[in-house]
This record gives sequence, C-alpha cells and structure tokens, in this order.
Amino acid sequence: MSEPNLNVVDPEISRLIADENRREFETIRLIASENYASHAVMQATGSCLTNKYSEGYAKKRYYEGQQVIDQVEELACGRLRELFGAEHVNVQPYSGSPANLAVYLAFCNAGDTVMGLGLASGGHLTHGHSVSITGKYFKSIPYGVRRTDCRIDMDEVRALAKEHRPKLLWAGTTAYPRTLDFAAFRSIADEVGAIFAADIAHIAGLVCAGVHPSPMAFADVVTSTTHKTFRGPRGGMIFCKKEHAAAIDKAVFPGLQGGPHNHTTAGIAVAAKEAQTPAFKQYATQVVTNARVLAEALLARGFGVVTGGTDNHLMLIDLTSKGVAGKPAAQALDRAGLVANYNAVPFDPRKPFDPSGLRIGTPSVTSRGMKEPEMARIAAWIDQVVSTPSDDALIAGIAAEVKALCATLPAPGLTV
Ligand SMILES: *Cc1c(COP(=O)(O)O)cnc(C)c1O
Repeated sequence: MSEPNLNVVDPEISRLIADENRREFETIRLIASENYASHAVMQATGSCLTNKYSEGYAKKRYYEGQQVIDQVEELACGRLRELFGAEHVNVQPYSGSPANLAVYLAFCNAGDTVMGLGLASGGHLTHGHSVSITGKYFKSIPYGVRRTDCRIDMDEVRALAKEHRPKLLWAGTTAYPRTLDFAAFRSIADEVGAIFAADIAHIAGLVCAGVHPSPMAFADVVTSTTHKTFRGPRGGMIFCKKEHAAAIDKAVFPGLQGGPHNHTTAGIAVAAKEAQTPAFKQYATQVVTNARVLAEALLARGFGVVTGGTDNHLMLIDLTSKGVAGKPAAQALDRAGLVANYNAVPFDPRKPFDPSGLRIGTPSVTSRGMKEPEMARIAAWIDQVVSTPSDDALIAGIAAEVKALCATLPAPGLTV
C-alpha cells in the first residue's frame, strides 16, 4: 500500500531539497524578509488540505465537502483576530502582493490617486511603484524620507496628501529601520478623506508580540505577509474594521482569486497558535535586541548605518565609507556563508542594480537562538569580509567558522 518516497519518484528534486536544507542549515541568514517556519507549520503546509477546492468563505462555499475546511479557516481567523486585536481578517490572499492588490480593488478605481513610500526610500513595489500594476493602473504619488535624517517626513506626507487628495494612503516598508507614526497617517488620511492602509508584511511578528506599535487602532485596513517575522508559511492576510469586511472579502474572492490555499491556511493557523506563546514574545523581543546590538557593533566598526541605528528587525548599511559597493559585498558575504541582500540607501548616488548598501535583518538568526554574543561575531565577520572581499582564503576560513557555529544552533523546520 505504501507509495514510493520523493527520493524514488523524483531523485533530482529530492536531492535539490536536501541541498537547500543543507545550505540553509550551514549558513547564517541575514535577509530581513526571510525566516524559518517550524516543523509543525511545514507539516500543515505539506498536508492533504492542498487537495481541496473551497471557493467562498466558511458556510458560504461553492463546492460541497467543506466539513473540515470551514473549521480550519475559522480557527485561523479566530486566532489571528485575537492575536492582533482585529475586528475582521481574511486569510485567503496567496501572498503579500495579492493582499495589497485586493485593497486597491476594494477601495479604488483604475486611475485613482494613491500614495505610498517610494521604493528608493524603503517602500514596497505594490505601494505604487512605476513598474508594478499599482503604479501602472493608478496615479501614484510617492513620498520619501528626509535628506537630513533619512526618516519619513510626516510634514511632506501631509503636504503631498493635501495637494493630490489620494484615495488610498499606504504606510508600510521593506527597508526602513524605524517605527512608523500610524496615528499621524490616520489624521492625514482623515484630513483628505483617504483610506489608510498599513502594510505590516515585515513586522507582523513584532506587532503581535507587542514589540512594535500596532496600526490596528488607526488603519482602515492592515495587510501582511505571513512568512516574515510572523514565521508562518508563505501567504498573505488582510485585517480590517467590520465596516470594510464585505468589501475586502469580495475583493479577494471573487475579485482577484479563485480557491484559497487551504494547506497554507492551516499553516497560518499553526503559526498563529505558536505566536500566542510566551516563547514567541521572547523571540520577537530578542529580534529587536539583536538588531540594535548588531547595528551598534557595525557602527563601532566604522560602517554607515542609515538613521544611525534601528527600532525594528533590520538595518540598512551604507558601505560608502568602506570603499565597496553593495553587490560585490553581498556576493563576498554569501561566499563566507553570511547571506544578505544588496540594497539602495536613501538618495543613493549609485544605480538600483548596483547600489551602495546592504540590508541586514535578525529574524532568522534569532529563530536559531542567536543572541548578543553571536551578533558581535557576525559584525566582526562582516567587517573582515567587506574589508577584503577578494581574499578567498579569508572568506573560506570564515565560511568554516560560520558552519561550525551553525552546527550548534539548529534552525526550526530544517532536518539536520
Ligand atoms: C514582502 C512585502 C510584500 C509582498 O509580499 P510577497 O509575499 O513577496 O508578495 C508586501 N509589502 C511589504 C511591505 C513587504 O515587505
């Protein structure tokens, strides 16, 4: 009766998964948007729930056989509402970008004016960037950060909003190391009659743990991914006030998507249960502590740290003072087993594909149990690699040290 295993059915894919497992195990992940989903989350995600079609919402489906799926989705939604203090949540968006698109569909018509933080200042593509559908089908007025301190300038946001009267105002970031003033965004949205959407894709885990301010009391709608600091499977979710629930649900299905990914919904439910534990709160607290300690250590080693530090899980490093660009630095770090991404810094004089900076985040290393001493070691390694990015012997030596450290700190969800 037993079916053949993956390694028998498809040895190539089986080997590639094993290779990726080893790569993730042996290297230090500093990519701010990535994390490790737990074994329990992966079990739910890899289950028979992937087989079921369930277009619609609990008790209002278009197919029969929803006895179990309705319970899965209601468990996920109930846990999330409680965890985030939200009136309503939709867990069906396939990922963060579709969740954001559903917000446009719910509140805007093509051609309407929308405002979000520009990509070059740390905003997301889906907040109106010109290459995104959100910049092509809507009139996008991006706001930026101040030249003097690289922080979002709420006076500029207010002035632009008053001039352009957006239908939709986004607050949310992918590469911004400071907290956002959600109350100020609310009052600006009220002044111009805009819908205020907060996108907490990166910080959802910090928000529900209470180590980052929550937009829930201020925003009309809050979107998020489920796989970054929240440590769930890849997915998206949208929270909103009751008054917007019908519009959001209709936008997700049938507006934008067909059947929900029920295996993902189950994984999100598991992640929400994990996030309710004291251990998760400790985790989120340590993510922020680790980021602060790592930023301070890099500052002490002469690195440029945008805004001079961080309030959240990430930092933006300006490598100009080190005489190396972001891309060759990220590539050398990758060879040393320190995986990060090159990133533009605000007002970057270099091109987007070859920018001046690195984005570094602590969600993944913290999931492996790393604390302040490991942050000091990571800062020293980054300094050595960036100072001599073409010293192959040095880099190989660091890769071996990284591997040795990783061997002592198993990552959630990975097999050793
Ligand atoms: C990651 C991210 C998204 C998009 O999520 P995907 O799951 O990659 O589509 C949206 N908004 C912000 C702010 C993000 O950081």
